[in-house]
Amino acid sequence: MPEYASLIQLSLKTHGPMIDAAGADHLVRRQGWLELYRTPEKLAARVKEAEEARRLYGVEFAQLDRAALEEKEPSLSDTIIGAIHWLDPWTVADPGGLVAAYAQAFSKDGGRILQSDIKSVQQVGDRWQVNTAAEVLEVDNVVVALGPWAGSWLKELGYHFPTFVKRGYHMHYAPQAPAKLNFWVMDAEVGYLLAPMNAGIRLTTGAELDRLDAPADVNQLGAAEKVARGVFPLGERRDEAPWKGARPCLPDMKPVIGPAPRHPGLWLAFGHGHQGFTLGPATGHLLADMMEGQPTAINMAPFRADRF
Ligand SMILES: Cc1cc2nc3c(=O)[nH]c(=O)nc-3n(C[C@H](O)[C@H](O)[C@H](O)COP(=O)(O)OP(=O)(O)OC[C@H]3O[C@@H](n4cnc5c(N)ncnc54)[C@H](O)[C@@H]3O)c2cc1C
Repeated sequence: MPEYASLIQLSLKTHGPMIDAAGADHLVRRQGWLELYRTPEKLAARVKEAEEARRLYGVEFAQLDRAALEEKEPSLSDTIIGAIHWLDPWTVADPGGLVAAYAQAFSKDGGRILQSDIKSVQQVGDRWQVNTAAEVLEVDNVVVALGPWAGSWLKELGYHFPTFVKRGYHMHYAPQAPAKLNFWVMDAEVGYLLAPMNAGIRLTTGAELDRLDAPADVNQLGAAEKVARGVFPLGERRDEAPWKGARPCLPDMKPVIGPAPRHPGLWLAFGHGHQGFTLGPATGHLLADMMEGQPTAINMAPFRADRF
């Protein structure tokens, strides 16, 4: 989807200066990631798609046979016959740590961060009043960046976005010496990811379609763990319970970024699906330019709120 490509292509350009400003380079690895395959036919079909992506969008990759893969990841079981090495992406060994470093750099630059529950938001004349559990704020502009909670919150202002969530889980495992995981790897034919994080080897699951507030179902993680243990030697679990998150989605799998159609001073930034961490800084830049009436780096029409 060309319009999604235009957005995602801003991600490294916008994270880069923030990583520098936050002094957080030690959290970032610039070595791409590996998409693992079990069957030659599926790998060959995916290579065709990768070639098309390279032609259309300039994304770089290398095809690895078993021997080339073994040089990068010697501890994978031989059920894995090859991989695509996506060369451009960066990975982060502690996403929470990186966001905390961004927040610290923002505060050091004079920004103010208030962490509190928002109780209500009202338009008062041409300004906005935000009532939080801690204090009442009078402001010119409000940005609704409430992820999976944005849809229900916006109903109160008369907007009905068809939001839904794709839930997912992760768990950290101790490494089992001498095995070592060097890259982020995705077991593409099954649909989970293993990543060498600071907290341990993280297993992340794919999409679970359920309500935001439905109880956690540990079976998805359990099933992925069973398969993953056959691919890479994982040690014991390190977290008491699996982490559960929700990817905030809209039916066309594109976010809404821009002004609210009927409320001057109200701005929307939600629906970032699988890539909200990746797209946070790009979204912030684009919104800031729109709020200041400046030209944006990309065409924002595909991300307008009134497409729904
Ligand atoms: C298993 C899993 C793996 C993922 N992996 C990746 C990945 O590798 N890369 C990537 O880019 N993305 C990934 N994502 C997606 C990413 O987590 C989301 O896209 C991203 O968190 C969305 O960001 P957001 O700021 O819009 O929403 P959120 O991060 O959900 O933030 C919304 C915030 O609003 C707050 N809030 C809600 N109501 C109120 C209120 N009344 N008052 C005050 N605050 C309120 C919430 O507490 C929350 O902090 C993954 C998601 C899952 C579930």
